[in-house]
Amino acid sequence: MCTMSSVLKIDLHTHSEGSYDGKEPVGLMVEHVEDKNIDLDGFVVTDHDEIEQSLEAVKMAEKSDIIVIPGVEVSTKNGHLLAIGVEEKPEKGKEFMETVESIRKMGGAAIVPHPFQKTRHGVSKKKIKDIDAVEAFNAWLFTGFQNRRAKKFAENHGYSKVAGSDAHSLGMMGRAYTEIEIDKPQEEIVAEDVVEALRNGETSMSGRRAPMYRAAFHYVKASIRKTAYYFSRLLERVNKQIYRYNRPLREIYLRS
Ligand SMILES: [Zn+2]
Ligand SMILES: [Zn+2]
Repeated sequence: MCTMSSVLKIDLHTHSEGSYDGKEPVGLMVEHVEDKNIDLDGFVVTDHDEIEQSLEAVKMAEKSDIIVIPGVEVSTKNGHLLAIGVEEKPEKGKEFMETVESIRKMGGAAIVPHPFQKTRHGVSKKKIKDIDAVEAFNAWLFTGFQNRRAKKFAENHGYSKVAGSDAHSLGMMGRAYTEIEIDKPQEEIVAEDVVEALRNGETSMSGRRAPMYRAAFHYVKASIRKTAYYFSRLLERVNKQIYRYNRPLREIYLRS
């Protein structure tokens, strides 16, 4: 019997309009990844202390071949923490390690995003006693310095490294992603496999920045996708209006 493994590209850190600082509807995000033109196999919507949109995205992608995992970015007492693979949001404002534990109890993986960055609510080194993975590449950072610090920290402590775009707009989605190797053919892989791989840290995982030529097209593709999305919503609304307008006539017709 031959075993086949697959390498999936997942953006583990994105924000929708469910975040106070995000702006995209999840429907648009799901369609954008389904289009396959940003080279992602899946993603996680991790809004700040909100999970509704993330769960909605999972539902929307149920029948498609992309993998959407539920998640949330929790504001702990000591800084931000990504909960990947949870279906309810952990309570905010709790101690960092206490939140890590509750995420694990819920069956999720706990990942520390943009560590050590005070201006972005990054958790300080001494608070991280144990973690499933460290975001060693965050596409938001303008200098590579903070990413290099996070990477070194992960390597020194033997933590897995992941990457996330931390996208707050469509054009940023997929600008960074995590490659996760799983011992299954791709069509059999489900969200739980990815979460398990993250929890076990036994997969080959590398944080990557999308190649520059792709990054340049991200904005163009995002704006094309956005126009199509809003245009189809507009058509839906127009159709509904026409339907409403015609109804009295139809009812008269049916009654006579
Ligand atoms: Zn954050
Ligand atoms: Zn974030």
